[in-house]
Amino acid sequence: MERTVYLNGEYIAESEAKISIFDRGFLFADAVYEVTAVLDGKLIDNAGHLARLERSCKELGLKLPVTGEELTAIQKTLVEKNALVEGGIYLQLTRGDEGDRDFSFSDSIEPTLVLFTQARSLIKSAKTETGIRVISIDDIRWRRRDIKTTQLLPACLAKHMAHAANADDVWLIEDGFVTEGGSSNAYIVTEDNTIVTRPLSNDILHGITRASLMKLANDFDFKIEERYFTIEEAYAAKEAFISSATTFIWPVVAIDDKAIGNGKPGPLALKLRDIYINTALELAE
Ligand code: PMP
Repeated sequence: MERTVYLNGEYIAESEAKISIFDRGFLFADAVYEVTAVLDGKLIDNAGHLARLERSCKELGLKLPVTGEELTAIQKTLVEKNALVEGGIYLQLTRGDEGDRDFSFSDSIEPTLVLFTQARSLIKSAKTETGIRVISIDDIRWRRRDIKTTQLLPACLAKHMAHAANADDVWLIEDGFVTEGGSSNAYIVTEDNTIVTRPLSNDILHGITRASLMKLANDFDFKIEERYFTIEEAYAAKEAFISSATTFIWPVVAIDDKAIGNGKPGPLALKLRDIYINTALELAE
C-alpha cells in the first residue's frame, strides 16, 4: 500500500512526491536529516532529534521552514495517516533548488522538506537476540561528523563491505581509536562493568539515543566513562554494544571475527536496552 508522505507543506501519495533534479540535496548532499523512532504510535526522544536538527541547520546556514511544534504536528499526522504503530519517521531538509547546478547558492533559496514513515519491528528484533558482528575499518568521513548530513556514501560502502565479510556492520577507526559505528554510537564494557564510549566532539554524531542512555545509566547507577578506546581494548572487552534510534541498543558479539566476552549478547547491554525501551515508552509523545 502506498504511504502518505509530506513534501513542502503537502501530504501526498509517495508516488506523487517529486523533487527537482537540481535540488542541492540530490546534487551535493547539501542536506540534513533525522530519524525518530515510533513505538506504540508515539514519538521516541523526539525533542532531542528536533534540537539536533536545529543545530545541524544552524551549523550549515540551512533555513528550517517550519517550527519545532509544526514539525511535531507533521510527524504525528504522518503516523496517523499511515497507521504507523512501530518503526520510524525519516525527515530530510535540503537547501533547495535554484534551477541549475552551481556550487554556490544564494540566501534566498527555498529549502525542500520531506518526511516519510517506515514501518519496522523495533522491540522484537532478531539482532537483539543474536547480537551483531562488526568489522573495523578506517573512518574516511569528513571532519564535521557532529552535523547530521546526508553525505552517507562512506556508511553505505562500509555496510556493503561488512555484509560481504559476513558481518552486520562496521566500527570506524581513526588514529587507532574507535570513533563510532556505521550508523550508531559504539560502547564497550570493561571487566569492572564500566561502560566506555568516546566523548562528544566533531569526530562523532551526538547520538540522541546515546544522550538518553547516558542519563539512564546515571539514574540507574551504571558506571560510565567517556574516553577514547582502541579496537584492541574492544576485542578484550567483557561486552560491546551500539546505540541508535533505529536499533535502540544492539549487543555486539564479534569484532573482526573475534568473539566479545563469551560471544553471546552481554547482560548489561540487554538490561540497558530494556531500561531504555521502558523509559522511552513512558516519555513518548
Ligand atoms: N552515529 C552515526 C554515524 C549515526 O548515523 C547514528 C544514527 N543516525 C548515530 C550515531 C546514532 O544517533 P541516534 O541515536 O541519534 O540515532
